[in-house]
Amino acid sequence: MASSTTLSPMTLADAAQKFGTAKHFDILIIGAGQAGLSAAGTLHRRGLIPGKDFAIVDGNDGPGGAWRHRWQSLTLGRAHGIHDLPNFPLEHPDTWRPASDVVSEYYGAYEDHLGLKVIRPAKVKAATRLQDNLYYLTTQAGDFTTNALINATGTWETPHIPYYPGLENFSGTQWHTKTFRDVEDFTNQRVLVVGGGASATQFLMMLKQVTNHTVWVSRSLPRWNAGLFDPDWGRKVEQRVTTQVTAGYAPRSVVSNTGLALDQHSLRYINNGTLVFRGFIDSFWEHEVVINGPGPDGATINSQGPAVNDLLRNADPAVLDLHRNTEILPGHGTDIDHQWVTPIDTILWATGFRHSLDHLEPLGLHSERGGIQVEQDGVTAAAATGIFLVGYGASASTIGATRAGRRAAVAAIRYTE
Ligand SMILES: Cc1cc2nc3c(=O)[nH]c(=O)nc-3n(C[C@H](O)[C@H](O)[C@H](O)COP(=O)(O)OP(=O)(O)OC[C@H]3O[C@@H](n4cnc5c(N)ncnc54)[C@H](O)[C@@H]3O)c2cc1C
Repeated sequence: MASSTTLSPMTLADAAQKFGTAKHFDILIIGAGQAGLSAAGTLHRRGLIPGKDFAIVDGNDGPGGAWRHRWQSLTLGRAHGIHDLPNFPLEHPDTWRPASDVVSEYYGAYEDHLGLKVIRPAKVKAATRLQDNLYYLTTQAGDFTTNALINATGTWETPHIPYYPGLENFSGTQWHTKTFRDVEDFTNQRVLVVGGGASATQFLMMLKQVTNHTVWVSRSLPRWNAGLFDPDWGRKVEQRVTTQVTAGYAPRSVVSNTGLALDQHSLRYINNGTLVFRGFIDSFWEHEVVINGPGPDGATINSQGPAVNDLLRNADPAVLDLHRNTEILPGHGTDIDHQWVTPIDTILWATGFRHSLDHLEPLGLHSERGGIQVEQDGVTAAAATGIFLVGYGASASTIGATRAGRRAAVAAIRYTE
C-alpha cells in the first residue's frame, strides 16, 4: 500500500501546490486514547509503518488520552475497568495509585513499544474533503492530507452543562466532572450535585468526607440496576447503542443505557442518607436553587426505598446473595409537585460529555436525526467514504474502544488498498 496507488500523482501534485507543506499519510488517526492506540496497534500488526504509512495526531501534550486529566483520587481500583491494549497486558499495577498516572504510563509504554511517535500537541482544528479519497486537516502542528481518517477523539474536550432559568444569576462556584480535582475544594460547602450517572453518585459518596450538606438532583429519577453486570449484559447494552447510531440518532447518555449499579457500596450510602435523590431543578437564584420535589426533610422521591426493595425482590439470586445482610430503609412519597428552595454555595455538574467532533463539522457527516450515522460495523461513517469513528456510540468504553479500533484499522486498510 502506498500513496501513489490510492491517489493519482496529479492529484497529489495539485494538493501539494495548493497546500504547500501539508504532510501526507495514507491513514491518519486523530486521538491517542484507548481507541486511537488500539487502531494504531492493528495497523502496526498488519505491517504498516508508523510515520510512513500512517500517523497519529493528538491534542494532549503527553500520553494518556482523557485518563491523563482525571482527578488524582480516582485510583485504579475505583475505575470501572481499564481494558488491555491489543497484545500488551496492563499486568497488575497497584490499585491504590491514581488511574491517571497508571494509564498515562501504560499508554506511553505502548507508544514506545510500537514506535508510534505520536505527533503532539496537535489538536485538529478542521477536516475538509478535497475529493472522495483525500482529506485535508489543519492542526496546531501543521497541516496534513490523508486518504483515510480514523477519528478517535473521545468526549473529554466537550463537557456538557445544561441550562436552567436563572443560572446566569447564580453567584456561587461551579465545577464540572472535567474540572473536578479534589474533594477538599468542597469542604463545608453546601453542594448541589447534578446528574444521574456514576460520576454523580461517586462524587456524592466522596463529598460525604468533607461536608454534610449535599443535595442530589437530576433530570430524571435514578435508574438503579440490581442486575448482574456480566458480559451478556454488556453485549445487550452495546447492541442497544449500536441500533441507535446505525439509525443516525445521537448516542444517548451512558447511564440511560447502563443504569446505576446497585451494589453493596451504593446501598450503604442510600441507607445512610447520602444517595438520596431530592428532585428536579426548576431554576436558580443568586444563592439558591429551586427544586421540584418533596423537600429536604425526610420525604424522598419513590426511587430510594420501595423502588430499591422491588429491585432486590426481583433480582438475580447472585445479586440477592450479595445484599443478604443489607437493611433497606422504608421509602417515602412521590410528591414531585411540591416546590422548595434551598441555599447552595457550589454546583457540581456531573452532567456528562458530548462526543468531541467539532473539527469534523465541515464534512457534513451528521444525519437529520442528530447523530453521525455509522454502518453495521459500528465504525464506518455512512455519509462519506474513508472516515471511521472509534470510541463513538457503542464503543465509548475502554473495552468497546479496543474492539472498534481493530475494526476501524482493518476497514481503513481495505479502503486504501
Ligand atoms: C470520569 C470518567 C471515568 C470513566 N471511567 C471509565 C472506566 O472506568 N472504564 C471504561 O471503560 N470507561 C470509562 N470512561 C469512559 C472512557 O472515556 C472511555 O472508556 C475511553 O477511555 C475513551 O477512550 P477514547 O480513546 O475514545 O477517548 P480519550 O481517552 O478521550 O482520547 C481521545 C484523545 O483524542 C484527543 N483529541 C480530542 N480532540 C482532538 C482534536 N480535535 N485533535 C487532536 N486530538 C484530539 C484527546 O486529547 C485525547 O488524547 C470514563 C469516562 C469518564 C468521563
